[in-house]
Amino acid sequence: MSDLDEEYQLEYFHEEGFERKECPSCGAHFWTRDHDRELCGEPPCAEYEFIDNPGFDDEYSLEEMREAFLSFFEEHDHERIDPYPVAANRWRDDVLLTQASIYDFQPLVTSGETPPPANPLCVSQPCIRMQDIDNVGKTGRHTMAFEMMAHHAFNAREDIEDPDKYAYEGEVYWKNETVRYCDELLDSLGADLDGVTYIEDPWVGGGNAGPAIEVIYRGLELATLVFMCMEQDPDGEYELKDGNTYSYMDTYIVDTGYGLERWTWMSQGTPTVYEAVYPEMIAFLKENAGIEHTDAEAELIGRAARLSGQLDIDDVDDVEAAREEIAATLGVETDELRALVEPLENIYAIADHCRTLAYMLGDGIVPSNVGTGYLVRMVLRRTKRLVDTVGIDAPLDELVDMQAERLDYRNRDTIRDIVRTEVEKYRETLERGGRQVERLADEYAAREEPIPLDEVIELYDSRGIQPDMVEEIATEHGAEVEIPDNFYSLVAARHSGADADDDDAIQSGLDDRIAELPETEKLYYEEPERTDFEAIVLDVIEREEGVYDIVLDQTMFYPEGGGQPADTGTLSTDDVTAEISDAQEVDGVILHRSDTDPGKGEFVRGAIDGTRRRRLMQHHTATHIIGYAAREVLGDHVRQAGAQKGVDSSRFDIRHYERISREQIKRIERVANQIVTDNVAVKQEWPDRRDAEDRHGFDLYQGGIPPGETLRLIHVAEDVQACAGTHVLRTGDVGTIKILSTERVQDGVERFVFAAGDAAIEATQRTEDALYAAAETLDVSPQEVPDTAARFFEEWKARGKQIEDLKEQLAEVRAQGGGGDAEEIDLGQTTAIIQRVDADMDELRATANALVEEGSVAVLGSGLDGATFVVAVPDQIDINAGTVVGELASMVGGGGGGPPDFAQGGGPDAEALDEALEAAADVLKRLLEA
Ligand SMILES: [Zn+2]
Ligand SMILES: [Zn+2]
Repeated sequence: MSDLDEEYQLEYFHEEGFERKECPSCGAHFWTRDHDRELCGEPPCAEYEFIDNPGFDDEYSLEEMREAFLSFFEEHDHERIDPYPVAANRWRDDVLLTQASIYDFQPLVTSGETPPPANPLCVSQPCIRMQDIDNVGKTGRHTMAFEMMAHHAFNAREDIEDPDKYAYEGEVYWKNETVRYCDELLDSLGADLDGVTYIEDPWVGGGNAGPAIEVIYRGLELATLVFMCMEQDPDGEYELKDGNTYSYMDTYIVDTGYGLERWTWMSQGTPTVYEAVYPEMIAFLKENAGIEHTDAEAELIGRAARLSGQLDIDDVDDVEAAREEIAATLGVETDELRALVEPLENIYAIADHCRTLAYMLGDGIVPSNVGTGYLVRMVLRRTKRLVDTVGIDAPLDELVDMQAERLDYRNRDTIRDIVRTEVEKYRETLERGGRQVERLADEYAAREEPIPLDEVIELYDSRGIQPDMVEEIATEHGAEVEIPDNFYSLVAARHSGADADDDDAIQSGLDDRIAELPETEKLYYEEPERTDFEAIVLDVIEREEGVYDIVLDQTMFYPEGGGQPADTGTLSTDDVTAEISDAQEVDGVILHRSDTDPGKGEFVRGAIDGTRRRRLMQHHTATHIIGYAAREVLGDHVRQAGAQKGVDSSRFDIRHYERISREQIKRIERVANQIVTDNVAVKQEWPDRRDAEDRHGFDLYQGGIPPGETLRLIHVAEDVQACAGTHVLRTGDVGTIKILSTERVQDGVERFVFAAGDAAIEATQRTEDALYAAAETLDVSPQEVPDTAARFFEEWKARGKQIEDLKEQLAEVRAQGGGGDAEEIDLGQTTAIIQRVDADMDELRATANALVEEGSVAVLGSGLDGATFVVAVPDQIDINAGTVVGELASMVGGGGGGPPDFAQGGGPDAEALDEALEAAADVLKRLLEA
């Protein structure tokens, strides 16, 4: 570390009469104008001295302080740039959320490949640090959402061999100017410069390093000035605090961070940062929750706040221990302090989390179970839990909207919609999850073991169950569980890796041979409609017995990529024709897969399957159109989550928070087909990356973030995408677009299955065929199918119900012997049930059928309307049911008959019914013996 000591000997410090001192308490070196000062001034070496004693001349709101900072640097020749989204994964694929202003310029600007948007520049960049989530509200100074105000200068050494090597040249300014700016800014706000210390604190991060200075004033760290000028180098001569060796780079960058919230707080001197940053919301929440304090209590809270500046859950193992210490210092009971401070802490956290949610949802992140979607869901659920704990009765979407309004987001309706949907999903989750926690609690209570942390994290991850709910239920069920104070940082850390992109290029075991070959010239971009071409075979690589990868100097074959399958076709010499079944690109070299070797050095004529290619192009252009139409209809938050083009249909996944309705599908189809009808040109261009991002924003990267300094952009009407695929020349060439179905792939991701061109017609015809077949079965016209089907369905349901009823009645009848006694008689090869059932004909028939099914002859009589009989006979039993009915009916003054297995009949004389049934046994025996 001492290697960098020289770096801090700034002319500016010497000119201004600063003295370099060593803090006797922590050992840090720092620079100060106050020659009597001993300590470095940073907690824990000092306390907050600005509470009730603001460090600037005037009070500033968040907005005023932001403006003061940006205009100060504008006046000092910096260009003000617009902040980037908090979802950093929209322009880089190695991180999820923006955590510092330098993220905006990584990796291409910091490496010198691309110029910065301005040089020097200033920005107030919204950031989200999930790792601080457990500190929020408790320490008085941590916020999960914050704005990092910054000025940056990008410098390149002038003494390098090739000054054009980097996208910026020469030195803009370096350390002296950076410290001077900070000093002057503090001075312009009326800070007491004698109270400011500049602490030496070398910075190391992400393979880079350099000297850095922490700016401390009245106990609060206001800014960090980082001078990024070294990179990790095994041969480097500087060993830094991470144990690695570093050497100087050709580029060197001023990377500063001024916490907007801290500067605002310093100007107000409120007990916590939260009261300075969102005073209206804190007031609203306090009132809503009915929190009031006496003057004495307010005084105590203020004193506790001053001490809690030293609280940091990462350092202090246990919040409780720290709280005890503070209570002891203040001379009050820990419980008393907790009761006073805890509801406030929760309110601070709610205000902060709502601002975090406003940033995340405002920048178009949709809740889901992966990536940034997961993180926003976690914050939302934690916030909901806090709101319920404190007893706030305002709906969460209203609270988030308060912050969204202050941050000037235009999509506030969508934000509220998403919050409402998520709160409802959370409620359902809790209902289902509660039972699972109960089972788990019982299990561990029985074993007399505490519930392990892994289980709690798993419950949270898979079921969304918050740890305090686990704690609550566990206690009720006599199980123990211990939740660490940094629970949410642990969970967030699990999910903070960037989305891994699955690229299925055949990377494994790639030969040096391919690296030696020139990149294949891609003819398909110039003339996407051409199918034949000529080429030279540069190499043939035998992958395995009879499997060849053919490399050409140029090709019309599109290699699989960006969700578009490879072209197929043939490569022919005068002697052989090689069928090409696949094409893949590796480092710019396109490999044509075949089972035939056309011969290295041969001249070949290539032909791709034109119909297949045409269909793939139609589907690819249609994918862009549907993406655009979905955003038009569903909202700007809609982003592509994946796509796979095909020949007969394609699928396209989007991030969206609810199911897509039939009406929305139709509107999307209308918007999409209007673009087709407009028949506008599909344009491609290859602009500089920075330029493209400036003009179109990061929504360019819907299909993924391609590497490189230049991008290939595809314009379809108003839609612009970075895309490597092949497209039709005009939207009219797509023919038509038909959405075939939608489905939920996972929570937060909806899938469209659609077809374009001929495939759309074929798909429509298949649907029609199904409709015509149904119409024919129902014997109605296709238009009548829905009504008819509905009617049949209703009838079918009614019958089912009736059958159920009958079966029930039958069972009762059987059990109780019905309206009369059931007589069972033995006929030798079978039995017969003879019974009076005073029921209608339907029931009689059902009962008879049921009896026959069990192998009995059934003779049933009813006196409900005259006397009626039903006789049923099982197969193979030689009794004619019609004859039986005829004989019985004649006894009640009537007639009847029917087929030999089932017959019905009767007569008017109900009085004679019982007598006739009594005679039935003899009739049966006689007929059987006959
Ligand atoms: Zn110190
Ligand atoms: Zn595309």
